[in-house]
This record gives sequence, C-alpha cells and structure tokens, in this order.
Amino acid sequence: MSLTVQQHREQVGLEDGSLFVEGRWQQARSGETWTHHHPATQEAIGRFPVAGPEDVDEAVRAARRAFDESDWPRWRAGQRVKLLHRCAEALREHAEELRGLQALDNGVPLSFGTVYAGSVDVAADVFDHHAGWIDKAGGETLPPYQGGDHLALTVREPVGVVAAILPWNAPFLLFAQKVAPALAAGCTVVLKPSEHATFAVLRMVRLLAEAGVPGGVLNVVTGTGETTGEPLINHPGVDKISFTGSREVGRRIVEAAAPTMKRVSLELGGKSPALVFADADAGMAGMTAMGMVTLGLSGQACVAHTRALVHRDVYDEFLDAAGMIADSVTYGDPFDPGVLASPLINERQLGRVLDLVHQGEREGARLVTGGVRADGELAAGNFVTPAIFAEVDNAMAIARQEVFGPVLSVIPFEDEDEAVRLANDTEYGLGAGVFTTDVQRAFRVARRIRAGTVGINGFQVEPHLPFGGYKQSGLGREGGRGAFEAYTELKSVLLPLSGEMM
Ligand code: NAD
Repeated sequence: MSLTVQQHREQVGLEDGSLFVEGRWQQARSGETWTHHHPATQEAIGRFPVAGPEDVDEAVRAARRAFDESDWPRWRAGQRVKLLHRCAEALREHAEELRGLQALDNGVPLSFGTVYAGSVDVAADVFDHHAGWIDKAGGETLPPYQGGDHLALTVREPVGVVAAILPWNAPFLLFAQKVAPALAAGCTVVLKPSEHATFAVLRMVRLLAEAGVPGGVLNVVTGTGETTGEPLINHPGVDKISFTGSREVGRRIVEAAAPTMKRVSLELGGKSPALVFADADAGMAGMTAMGMVTLGLSGQACVAHTRALVHRDVYDEFLDAAGMIADSVTYGDPFDPGVLASPLINERQLGRVLDLVHQGEREGARLVTGGVRADGELAAGNFVTPAIFAEVDNAMAIARQEVFGPVLSVIPFEDEDEAVRLANDTEYGLGAGVFTTDVQRAFRVARRIRAGTVGINGFQVEPHLPFGGYKQSGLGREGGRGAFEAYTELKSVLLPLSGEMM
C-alpha cells in the first residue's frame, strides 16, 4: 500500500472518539473503549468510548431537556431553514476529509464518492431537501362536519426525542436521512453510529454543531448494540426509534418499542431481484447487476440486485457481461484512486459470506467464478473475490438469505409470470430492477413487484424519493415529504366561532 494506515490517519485528522452530550465531548463513565480496526489491513485506527446505560441515560435526558425546556421545537421556520442549509454546506466543504475518514472506518474506497449514493453530496442534498419542507409542510383547515359553527385545523408538531441508530455500510446517506428530517421537524436526537463506522459520523456531528445546531439537540453515544443500543431503545424518555440495519435487530426494536408505544421507522435488509427479459440489453443488465454487488461496497448494500432472474434466451449473454465486471473489479488500499471495491467489514462477515458460498455449491448451484478469500498482498484484509452463481434455484440459501457480500445468484426463467412469481417469492421487498425495451412490460412488471423502489433499466437513490421496504424490509420511508412527516405528530385543533360548538 502506498501510504500506511497511520499516515492516512494523520492526513484526515482522525482522533480518538468521544461521546457528545449537551454540546460537550466526553468519555464513558466506565472508561471502557472500543478499538476499531481498518478492514483492509486489520490495523488499529482509533478508539472510542463504549457508552453504558448511565451514559445513554445522560444523553437521553439532555435531548429531553432540549425538547421540553428549550425553544428549539418552536424555532421560526426561517431560522430552521437556514440552519439546515448551513449543515448541508458544512458537509460539502468537508467532503474530502469525510471520505477519508470513511475509507479508514469501513474500507469504502474514495472512488465510491463519485457514485451519487455513496457521496457526501447526497448527504448534503438530503439536508437541503428537508430544509425545503420546514416552511411548506403545514396542516389543513377543515369545514365543520356537524354541530355549531367552528373552525377545525390540523397542525404538525415534532414527535419528540428520536433515537437514531445507524449501520456501518453507508454512513453519509444514512446519517442524513435520519438527522435531517428530525432536525427539520424540530425533534432532538440521540444518535448511535455503528461500532464499525464511527469516526466519519463523529466528524459529521462536529460539523453540524459548528454550523449552529444547539447543544442537547444532537447527541451521540458510541458503542456496540448490546452495550449502548439496548439501553437506548429501551429508554422511556425516547419517543421514536429510527433504525437502519439488519432484520434481526429490527425485530428486537419493535419489541423494545412496545411497552411505551415508541414510534418506529425501520430500514432493513433486502434480497432485491433484477428481472432481465429477452428483449433487454442483457449485457448492460449483467454489468449493472454485477456492478451493484461489487463496486463500492462489495455487495454490502441493502438494495444491491443480488438475485438476477434472467430469461433463458439471454442467459449466457448476461453471464458473460457479469463475468467481465467480476474480472475487472480492483481491490486494495481504499485511498488508491484505482481501487473500486471495499473489503468486507470484518472477519465475521467474511466467514459468513464464505459459508454461504460453500452452501450454494453444496445445494447444487454452479459457481462460475470467485467466492474465495483473496490472497497475496490482500491476505491481511477481509477481501473476497466476486462470485457469480449460475443455475440457482430460488429455494437455495444464496437466493433467500441476504449475503451482504459480492455474490450474484443468477436464476433462469421462461416467461413474465414466472419472473414475477420468483421476484416476489422472498421475505424481503426493498428494491428491484426491470430490464426490458418494452415500455408497457416495464411498467406492468414494475407494478406487480412488491418492493419499495423499482428501477427500470437502471437504479438510483435520490433525496426526494421515498425509499423503504415492503414486507420484512422495513416500516416507513426515508426521503421525500413522508420522511419529514414521520418525525411529526398530527394534532387537530377545534375552535368554536360563535361561542358554542355542539
Ligand atoms: P446491524 O443490525 O447489525 O446493526 C445496525 C446498528 O444496530 C448498529 O449500530 C448496531 O450497533 C445496532 N444494534 C445491534 N444490536 C442492537 C440492539 N440489540 N439494540 C439496539 N441497537 C443494536 O446491521 P449492520 O450489520 O450494521 O448493517 C447491515 C444491515 O443493514 C443489512 O441487513 C442491510 O441490509 C441493512 N441496511 C439497510 C438499509 C436500508 O435503507 N434499508 C441501508 C443500509 C443497510
């Protein structure tokens, strides 16, 4: 590698982390810390505190005070709009150091910053987008339904204290998709980054505080799910939990929310299909699907099209194009501009991906290429070579489970009904792709697929588009007006106009 991890650390100014409570950076009361290792080399890059129940309680109380006792929830719309735009600008101005911090954190290469969904730009745009709702998303005035003359109106109010919990794979976008609408609505936040991607998130919090987010409005507790996440989701002072991560932890969150009826938004996993019809540009489809499971995040992406359903007539053409991408993906130092894909986040994830590859082979799928741990120069990191499985049956584990690695399962089909049936034969419903040159088929199939976002001959995540899952891929949507409204309660206010209402 050209520079050592230590040199990169100095270059991007990575410092050991702290908790951020009521505008103060502080250590955990227990003094316990977590050392994070760079996934491309396994070298230690820095430490941050492991917040326990007392630290979490302090952070939630700070957020509660800022919500219940300060004027933050009642800030004038114009003041709040300007603050969110300043946050967006601060992120843009520090894009380079943020990309460097992310590369150290989760090994996502700098090159991925040129892809919109992986860029700091998209995070900044999410702040600008939600700034736009602040002075527009009001309530309604409604006519009396019965009784005397009266005025009925609805108003939107912030939901309260939000516990925002992030995964490690795409911290820029996911930080913004939670924090921006929460601040836009007037909520206060206790944020828990993933223990596998903490440093870039801490820097974003610092930037927002410098941009003028008041003390107590945005607090951060660092640590693991068990030590820090559990006390946060169980805290009675939290009004809403906004979570992105695995389905298993999503279930746990629904249980923890039940006793006090916390509001819940969940963005969970996926097993998204790409449906490639005989009239499609199968080469483009093969490159797109394989690109989604390799480039940037090495398939550690919730909407990656990991199941390709391909018509028999274009099956070989699709496989050739996917194979070309598999052969050309480059791995290594995420700071090297020629490196296109990341290592897997840790050894546990590496083991899980390799186990699923072996299971695919045992179940009878044909491994066309890849699926082994990279050796030579890359042996110290968690790298696995991109895998393509052909002749996959949709009942196999590689077609049903979220692999979260560079593995594409290619399943043949004969006609449209079979393709739609296979596409919907999954517990998930996050994304899908339809590849065809027949415009009627494109829209017909898009409507028949039970998934939150369907791309026709291409896929993009954008700040103004609702994004989220059908079925076990989640609850609610991020992006767009609905995302802003999910951080509000709707109140009806009644006022008699002639002294009597009934
Ligand atoms: P994860 O569920 O293991 O962890 C996510 C976060 O939850 C982390 O901060 C973790 O510390 C915390 N956590 C873990 N256990 C907890 C508990 N008991 N209580 C409270 N918090 C707890 O997920 P991950 O491995 O970080 O991320 C990968 C998963 O995220 C994949 O399933 C992927 O599909 C999903 N994801 C979904 C989207 C989306 O928008 N739908 C986006 C990115 C990732």
